[in-house]
Amino acid sequence: MSATPKTLIRGARILGGEPQDVLIDGETIAEVGPGLTAPEGATVVEADGKVLLPGLVDLHTHLREPGREDSETVLTGTRSAAAGGYTAVHAMANTFPVADTAGVVEQVWRLGREHGYCDVQPVGAVTVGLEGRKLAELGAMADSAAGVRVFSDDGKCVDDAVIMRRALEYVKAFDGVVAQHAQEPRLTEGAQMNEGVVSGELGLTGWPAVAEESIIARDVLLAAHVGSRVHICHLSTAGSVEIVRWAKSKGWDVTAEVTPHHLLLTDELVRTYNPVYKVNPPLRTEADVMALREALADGTIDCVATDHAPHPHEDKDCEWGAAAMGMIGLETALSVVQHAMVDTGLLDWAGVADRMSFRPAVIGRMSGHGRPVSAGEPANLTLVDPAYRGEVNPAGFASRSRNTPYEGLELPGQVFATFLRGKATVMDGKLS
Ligand SMILES: [Zn+2]
Repeated sequence: MSATPKTLIRGARILGGEPQDVLIDGETIAEVGPGLTAPEGATVVEADGKVLLPGLVDLHTHLREPGREDSETVLTGTRSAAAGGYTAVHAMANTFPVADTAGVVEQVWRLGREHGYCDVQPVGAVTVGLEGRKLAELGAMADSAAGVRVFSDDGKCVDDAVIMRRALEYVKAFDGVVAQHAQEPRLTEGAQMNEGVVSGELGLTGWPAVAEESIIARDVLLAAHVGSRVHICHLSTAGSVEIVRWAKSKGWDVTAEVTPHHLLLTDELVRTYNPVYKVNPPLRTEADVMALREALADGTIDCVATDHAPHPHEDKDCEWGAAAMGMIGLETALSVVQHAMVDTGLLDWAGVADRMSFRPAVIGRMSGHGRPVSAGEPANLTLVDPAYRGEVNPAGFASRSRNTPYEGLELPGQVFATFLRGKATVMDGKLS
């Protein structure tokens, strides 16, 4: 009989505070304090002042399995997540087949458990086949082994107001949430980039901010009307921030996320015609980026979600108009957030833990994640070296895809270690 594995992390700055030691016993944090003694046989990790965070939680990941294993699988996607410091990801429903039944969500959930790199919490489709016409089996997915709580037709907007109302009413029965991809379809027909000065100069069909904002306005009103909760995916405009701020001031149960790329990149990059910058919702203006950063700092935007969207080379290595929309993001999210939010003084590390772990876990109702770093809690942890500086090199990514907009960019911070229930999925910056 072998003893339960023990790990002592020595000298870690928990949430950026004073250095302390953390003892992990089996799947649990056993003790936190200064000067802990390593038990016999324990693995000792010298943190040397690195920052210890609760394992990151992503509300918005595309793992592509089943159906598009040429771009990502549950295995490669969860390895990518672990490398990025994540211990839980929500897998979006726009797979082939669509995750609109208990059978498909259970399959995805089980694959995550079997691989053991990162918990996979499947998102259920709101409507059958993401077609926007008929509600999917929300109750059956909620009752399944996967215990689905987040429902989304992401990639598509639930644009029919009656369907949206019914979904919001339905999920109340099991404390679920509808995560809306806010994009008014008629206002974005053929849209290729943000509608503004740059789209005018380039002659590309624009994607107006109002296409996002009008859906958000409608949905916060609908959520308030039926007394349900709604989550807004990937906010990208200053106007969207204003609507969410207003809804929250009313006391309505509205939450919102922002992607790392919308905190950093602008539509000026489209001038390169490099399809790596083509994404849905599109990159917006500098003023939008600043409004999103401010809203994440003041809590109007609850969390950072990657919208990790892998695509094979051939779907991105083509002309702008034909290219697929989306960027990968799991392995760069924390670095981009450190660069845009921490190094600018907008958030401290406790704020990062809140926006990238605590709050997304609450929104997704994941009870085992987003917990404090203290004795008795599950040992889901991320040890980060904020002093690290290096160029992003996609060749080293664990993701099966390479469509990152940050190639060659110098970004701060590196995930040194990730622990999923006490087991190191990453150590010394390398996947185990
Ligand atoms: Zn989306």
